[in-house]
Order: sequence, then C-alpha cells, then structure tokens
Amino acid sequence: MVAPVWLQFVDLLVAICFILGLKGLSGPKTARNGNLIGAFGAVVAVVVLFIAHPGMNNLPLIIGAIVIGLLIGVPAARGVKMTAMPQMVALFNGVGGGAAALISIIEFFEMGVGEPGAEINYGALAATVFTVVIGSIAFTGSILTFLKLQELITTRPIVLPAGPFVTGLVAVATLVAAVWLLVAPSTLVLIVLLVLSLLAGIMLVLPVGGADVPIVISLLNAFTGLSVAASGYVLGNVLLIIAGTLVGAAGTLLTREMAHAMGRSVSKTMFGAFTATAAAAAGTGEERPVKTSTAQDVAIMLEYASKVLIVPGYGLAVAQAQQTIRELADLLSEKGIDVAYAIHPVAGRMPGHMNVLLAEANVPYEQLRELDDVNPEFASTDVVIVVGANDVVNPAAKSDPNAPIFGMPILDVSAAKQVVFLKRSMRPGFAGIENELLYQDGTTLLFGDAKASLTDVVSAVKEL
Ligand code: NDP
Repeated sequence: MVAPVWLQFVDLLVAICFILGLKGLSGPKTARNGNLIGAFGAVVAVVVLFIAHPGMNNLPLIIGAIVIGLLIGVPAARGVKMTAMPQMVALFNGVGGGAAALISIIEFFEMGVGEPGAEINYGALAATVFTVVIGSIAFTGSILTFLKLQELITTRPIVLPAGPFVTGLVAVATLVAAVWLLVAPSTLVLIVLLVLSLLAGIMLVLPVGGADVPIVISLLNAFTGLSVAASGYVLGNVLLIIAGTLVGAAGTLLTREMAHAMGRSVSKTMFGAFTATAAAAAGTGEERPVKTSTAQDVAIMLEYASKVLIVPGYGLAVAQAQQTIRELADLLSEKGIDVAYAIHPVAGRMPGHMNVLLAEANVPYEQLRELDDVNPEFASTDVVIVVGANDVVNPAAKSDPNAPIFGMPILDVSAAKQVVFLKRSMRPGFAGIENELLYQDGTTLLFGDAKASLTDVVSAVKEL
C-alpha cells in the first residue's frame, strides 16, 4: 500500500534530518547540533507512526516499553562519564540489534509460516532470516564488548581450547540453519538459528582483545545498522531502511578507517576468531626496577628542554586533566619552548577521544600532530610527557609477534631524549601487556593521578 503524500513528505524530512545529523557528527564543533537534529528526526519518526496508524494493536504495551526505555536511557545517558561512553555505546548498540532480531521473530509468526494454505513472501522471509542472524550476532557481540570495556571480564583475547574449530563449526551450522529456515520454515529451525546466531556473536568477540576492540565496536555497529535496515524491509517501513542503511554505511566506513589506523585488515579482524592463538604473557610477574621522579625533577627537565611533545591517552580522560595539561603547555610555550601534542588514532576508548578531550580545553588545533606527521619528530624532541597513555606507545607492537597489539602503528616515543610517564601504578594498559619502555634508560615515572601530578608540575614550573 502506498503511503499518503503527507507521510511521504514527513519521511523525506526525517531522512534529511538523519543525513544532516550524521554530517554534523563528523566534526567536534558541529557534533552537538548534529546530534540534536538526528534526535529530532527520530522523535518525529516515532510520533508520526502513531498518527499514521490509528487503532494500533498493543498500544499500552508499546507506550509502556517506550516509558521504561526513557526512564532507563535518559538518566543513564545523562550520568555517564565520558570515559565510560564506549561501553554505553556498545550496550545501546547491542539492544538495537537485539530489538531488530525480536521484531523479525514476531514478523516470522505474523507471516503465518507453517499454517496450511499460507502464502509465504520469500523476499520478506529472507530479510527476516538475515535480521535474526545479524541482529543476534550484534546483540551478544556487543554485550561481550561491553563486559570487556567495563573490565568486568579480561580485556585480553580469550582463546578457548579448539576455539577456532568451534567458531568455524558454529558459523557453518548458522549458515545451514539459515538456508534450512528459508527452504522449510518452522518454529524449531527458527529457535535453532537464533541460538546459533547468539553463540556466533560470542565466539566472534571472545578472541578479540587489545588493539582490535575499537574495530570490532564499529563493525558491530555496522551489523546493527544492517539488521535494522532489513527489519525495515520486513515491516515495510522506509525510515527504518534509511536509518539502518546510514548506520550500516557509516559503521562500515568507520571500521575501515579504524582498521587502517591500526595497521589491520578488516577481514583479519573479522576472521581473527578462526586464527586466534593464545596471546603473549602479561609479563614476567617479577618486580623490576624503574626510575621515578618528583614533580620538581620533571619541572627542571622541562626548563632545560627546547622541544616537548605531549602524548595524551586514556588516563588523561580518567583524570579529567585536559585543562591542567593545557595550562602546563601554555606555561612552557611562554618560556619559548616548542610544545605540541602527539595524537594516536586509538588513544583513549573511542574514535577521536583525545581530539574531543583537548578541544574541550580549547587546545589550539595547530598544536595537534597526527601519528604519521609526528613520528619523525620524536628523535629531535628533548622531553616526551606521556599522560595516561600506554598501549599507543608500547614497542611490543613492533617487537613481539605474540602481543595482541602486534602490527599496530605506535608513537615512537623511545626515540626522544627523555620520556616521562604519568601514571598511578605499574598496571598495564587496555591490551593487558607489559610495556618495556617503562624500564628503559631514558624513561622516568611520575606516579599519581594525572591531574594531581600535572598540578604539582605546573606549580613547580612556576616556582623556577
Ligand atoms: P591504555 O589503556 O593503554 O593505558 C592507559 C594508561 O592510563 C594506563 O597505563 C593507566 O595506568 C593510566 N591511567 C589510568 N587512569 C589514570 C589516572 N587517573 N591518572 C594517570 N594515569 C592513569 O591507553 P592508551 O590511550 O594508550 O591506549 C588505548 C587502548 O584502548 C588501546 O589498546 C586501544 O586499542 C584501546 N581501545 C581504544 C578505543 C578507541 O576507539 N580509541 C576503543 C576501545 C579500546 P595506571 O592504571 O597505572 O594509572
């Protein structure tokens, strides 16, 4: 049935909102407006559904679900710390994929499959099967990613005995069940397919660790988009198709970008589950001596420097020390010292995390240097201040083929004359592997929360 003209106009308006919203999200200055435009479009899309379909079934259930969702989602999104944003995104993404899969299951029964004389629309059935598989994989995969990011389970790759074999078996069985469901649809096969797809999501994400997590997050995001688009086809809802396709396309592009930044191929990450081996050990476990400094020592070191590079990482976000690092950088610049920030594409816990953080502190854009541009500069740098970064400077990415971050391009801070690490303990970074750089001759550690340590260094520099 063709939708009335007014509804087609509203659909067009909403689709434009989604596109403008996504475009706005591509830059920190326009992101807030982009988000609002996208959210406006989504609200209009939902409200219009109620107007276009008066006498909708199950209205109390639908409104009840919306109210529960709002009661959970709004406070959660308002209260979330910026450092916990990736796990929240993973959780919301999983819920989206799961919802698409559930809708398809309901539609499967609406099709009257198995009833005598029922005419099956095979196009819709194929889209249903696709949504069940991809939505379920996105659901369990995202929940597992959430658990990893929240560090409720280890962030290191989990390789089960015969893991690649089991994963292969689950993948083949899922494919067979999907084809079976298309050829001879029945409730039993649907349940088997659902269980296998949920298991496939777990098996795909279990062996992912360290550097590959950002790639997997965006890949699962793309999966959710595609499953939503397919469920739009099943329901005959144009807006779901448009929104899902936009998310699917954006997620796919982001996956490619992230994989490129990590020196990985997308296929290697996707099929990593089939080739995974137990990763490098977390360290020898023995206590080794490291050189430590006080804030005064660091201030003196900086006073004699003519070129300083700052490497921000996840710990800067945890400590919320962006203003303080800027204050230090400004002080050093006033003394005629050349200061810049070296930004690794996966520093922190979400794409562009460091750019957003430093933009918040109004760090001038010209002071930000990207990985490829900054790496040749370390050799001529007097002091590198590593603020809560670890994996993105870990030389194991070059030297240890068993390390989960092996092959990831890193910031070559070891080429600098002196390196100061600001961290709280000897704990490793997200990938869970020891960093040899901490023990090297030119390295010194200033232990403590990054904000407190930087505040002390700023005071010490002022006193010199
Ligand atoms: P890491 O997780 O490797 O290291 C963070 C460091 O910060 C740790 O050494 C920690 O040591 C220190 N730290 C934590 N809190 C504080 C604090 N309050 N004050 C001072 N130091 C602190 O971070 P990187 O940015 O180097 O690397 C990012 C990692 O996250 C990569 O492995 C990347 O693959 C992964 N990742 C990135 C995503 C992205 O999209 N950017 C998404 C998901 C994962 P200590 O505890 O001793 O203080």
